[in-house]
Amino acid sequence: MATPSPKTPIPNNHAHPLVELTAVNKHFGALHVLKDINLTVDKGEVLVVIGPSGSGKSTLCRTINRLEPIDSGSITLDGTTLPEEGKALAKLRADVGMVFQSFNLFAHKSILDNVTLGPIKVRGLKPAEAKKQAMDLLERVGVANQATKLPAQLSGGQQQRVAIARALAMRPKVLLFDEPTSALDPEMVNEVLDVMIALAKEGMTMVVVTHEMGFARRAADRVVFMSDGEIIEQATPDNFFDHPKTDRAKDFLGKIL
Ligand code: ADP
Ligand code: MG
Repeated sequence: MATPSPKTPIPNNHAHPLVELTAVNKHFGALHVLKDINLTVDKGEVLVVIGPSGSGKSTLCRTINRLEPIDSGSITLDGTTLPEEGKALAKLRADVGMVFQSFNLFAHKSILDNVTLGPIKVRGLKPAEAKKQAMDLLERVGVANQATKLPAQLSGGQQQRVAIARALAMRPKVLLFDEPTSALDPEMVNEVLDVMIALAKEGMTMVVVTHEMGFARRAADRVVFMSDGEIIEQATPDNFFDHPKTDRAKDFLGKIL
């Protein structure tokens, strides 16, 4: 299939997927970690990626904003092919928010600074504007009363909600979550998932790697099952969980459900 030139006028919002991976391959040395991945994410879609440990889910997330270079194939974001490097890449990357398993907040900055720094530096917001936006977002994720504290003074669930607020503050076109609740104590998982479900309902485009099957059932438009660097199945959550087609998916579900 020919890739349209980025200059091609886009007739409407639905003419192209927000994220499109075409024949993406990636190796780590001899390990073929992404094998000919073709994947689209539409605007407003919530995609849940599941699969065994080591199947390439994190690598997939990291390639979407080119934290990892790819060996072949192409990745487009909102109709623009991601360049390998340079200023254009930095600009596109700012449109892709990431929330990691380990929160990755700036440890020596206040919660408020964590949420204002990116917008001031990268988006050019004035400090007062950035602060107002940050307080609104912290309010939305339920931690506005923690704004002057340092990350270590918050619980894991609170820190992860701050990380979501920080990602949203950049006004991304798509948010990637890589096992956002895996490092949390069980009693804190739902407070983070609830924030994510609210975002999904508001129409945020999301790619979520998770083992939380309840979340997948409630919030996913589509489940993508990966194994050994390949996309093995894609289906609605109900179809996938109730009628997995392949032995690999049945085997995986048998172990986790
Ligand atoms: P998942 O997130 O599904 O557990 P990953 O994407 O983290 O899988 O890893 C896929 C495979 O690539 C694993 O075998 C892992 O050991 C390997 N891998 C991941 N990152 C690197 C790296 N930076 N260097 C070498 N191998 C890596
Ligand atoms: Mg991973």
